[in-house]
Amino acid sequence: MVVQAWNHVTARGDTLPLRNFLARFQPAAPTRVLFLAHWDTRPMSDNDTYRGDKARPVPGANDGASGVAVLLGMADALKARAPGIGVDLLFVDGEDFGDFAKEPNDVLIGSRHYARNQPEGPRPQWAVLFDMIGDRDLQVKQEGNSLLAAGDVVKRVWDVAKLLGYDSVFVNKPGLTITDDHVELQKAGIKAIDVVDFDYGPGHAWWHTPEDTLGKVSDRSLQVIGDVGMALIRLQKPQP
Ligand SMILES: [Zn+2]
Repeated sequence: MVVQAWNHVTARGDTLPLRNFLARFQPAAPTRVLFLAHWDTRPMSDNDTYRGDKARPVPGANDGASGVAVLLGMADALKARAPGIGVDLLFVDGEDFGDFAKEPNDVLIGSRHYARNQPEGPRPQWAVLFDMIGDRDLQVKQEGNSLLAAGDVVKRVWDVAKLLGYDSVFVNKPGLTITDDHVELQKAGIKAIDVVDFDYGPGHAWWHTPEDTLGKVSDRSLQVIGDVGMALIRLQKPQP
């Protein structure tokens, strides 16, 4: 386990002590893949337009914790049966802190830090980000920045999902274009994609509100995502 700890000074002058956690399986293996999720949750519910509860932190059951839950399940599976390739599970901090439009340095902080401070040794062939993948009506479309920078990885993931019979969840259509942690990895030359369902609650009403609670999250959805993640690992052949 690698812990990256650093201080980030925000645009408003606050100092945030942040931490990334990296669980490494076969750290020297030349063929390796990376999965990531953000473990922070948003400190304010700025989309809460009707309850006046904007100052409350987002509970983050889906926006944050769902991806973390899948990665923890994958860690258990990898511990029970070691992978034939290298696997890195990265938990990034500070994804959801600031204003995505006005304070671009105060979001995606942990993934940017990781991209600039990668561990020594072989780099991942590809990376998959899991974000907001826990809701009951899970529908994952192909995110725009992923298609643009890593279309072959998108195809790999959607092919594996289809193989497992999950093509009703992994919809074979382009979706929205989203600024998320994968973009920071792409800037560092990693072929990273975002597996994200950016449609949370009726009219996306639960996103960045106090409504992002555990009752909205489905264990079946987490299982589907975890199954795809594990199949991606088990099916990836080591490079000769
Ligand atoms: Zn968020």
